[in-house]
Amino acid sequence: MKQSTLLEDIKQQGLYRQHHVISERQHTQVKINQKNCINFCSNDYLSLSMLSELKQATIDAVNTYGVGSGASPWMSGYSVLHQQAEQTFAEFMQRDKAILFNSGFTANIGLMAALFDKTHTVAMDKFNHASLIDGLKLSGAKHLRYRHNDMQHLRQRINGELKGLVTEGVFSMQGTIADLKTLADISHEHQALLIVDDAHGVGVLGGGLGTVAHCGLTQKQVPLLVCPLGKAFAAQGAVIAGQADWVDLVLQKARSYCYSTAIPPMLAAASMASLQVLQQQSWRREKLLELIEYFQQCADELQLNCLPSVTPIQSIMIGDNEIALQLSEQLLQRGFFLKAIRPPTVPKGTARLRVTLNTDHTPEQIKSLLQTVTHCYDSLL
Ligand SMILES: *Cc1c(COP(=O)(O)O)cnc(C)c1O
Repeated sequence: MKQSTLLEDIKQQGLYRQHHVISERQHTQVKINQKNCINFCSNDYLSLSMLSELKQATIDAVNTYGVGSGASPWMSGYSVLHQQAEQTFAEFMQRDKAILFNSGFTANIGLMAALFDKTHTVAMDKFNHASLIDGLKLSGAKHLRYRHNDMQHLRQRINGELKGLVTEGVFSMQGTIADLKTLADISHEHQALLIVDDAHGVGVLGGGLGTVAHCGLTQKQVPLLVCPLGKAFAAQGAVIAGQADWVDLVLQKARSYCYSTAIPPMLAAASMASLQVLQQQSWRREKLLELIEYFQQCADELQLNCLPSVTPIQSIMIGDNEIALQLSEQLLQRGFFLKAIRPPTVPKGTARLRVTLNTDHTPEQIKSLLQTVTHCYDSLL
């Protein structure tokens, strides 16, 4: 088919994506098309990215090591800052060893393809992140897919040997927390390797340690943990942390690590600085948790259909793609920036407004957002 026809198809389905260009940024406020808006779609959960501590650490690293790393970590791209970041994160996460990838996406792809092959069966939650699904495809392993957080369905589906069990800690589109305790039991019963991608839990839950700690588990039950650094840590890159021999195996085999330029040293420095702030300023996490509760309470009072979630990811369910899109446009005109999430990112008929809460939001902003959603929604029906 011709590319123009393919593009037309995307538009007809209401799935054509366009950028919103940010021209200024101040904490949770951003400027888009000359209009100031409150940003309700950033994963900077603890509002760290504009902090002077992070900026200064980044600038210092640039002055010492330059901007780009210049090569693969196996060539000349690996600096003392990379090494320090790995040691610092391993210690913080209470893991034997940690390695630094240049993004969560490449970490997941590299990890899955390094550990699994076509003789293996790997079970994954239906709502796992695209990078985990793509990584599994790349590995060639048999994909055993179970309904979201449905442990009974998972047990029913296991039939024979199970090599791996892979889940998100906090699900990125639902805000639900994985049933890690049961997943750990099932992995133990089948001697399967449990891998948790905690992009949205680390820094926020479990006193900052993430979903695994929140669920009372350690490295023993979860030998491999993926922590992307672009969310609560307000930087970029990802850490894979865990049992020394598993981490080393990933390090030795991951092609996305070997054949890609190492993350810039400045970002290793930035992530260490944000880890320090995160440890010293626990009020950031506590305030965020209060805002989450407030959001749920307000949504309840306004009778908005929200998924229950004790995480910064909140979903206002709409259903129809077009209505969700129109709502997000109307909200933008009224100074609230958030996105309509539509299929194929979420299942058909479950289009939603996805809100991500950050420490620097205020209760007034949250209330005003939800009142505006109610108002616009009523006028669209
Ligand atoms: C964001 C995200 C990733 C990808 O991380 P990047 O560093 O943004 O590439 C992986 N897994 C999950 C669950 C995510 O939400």
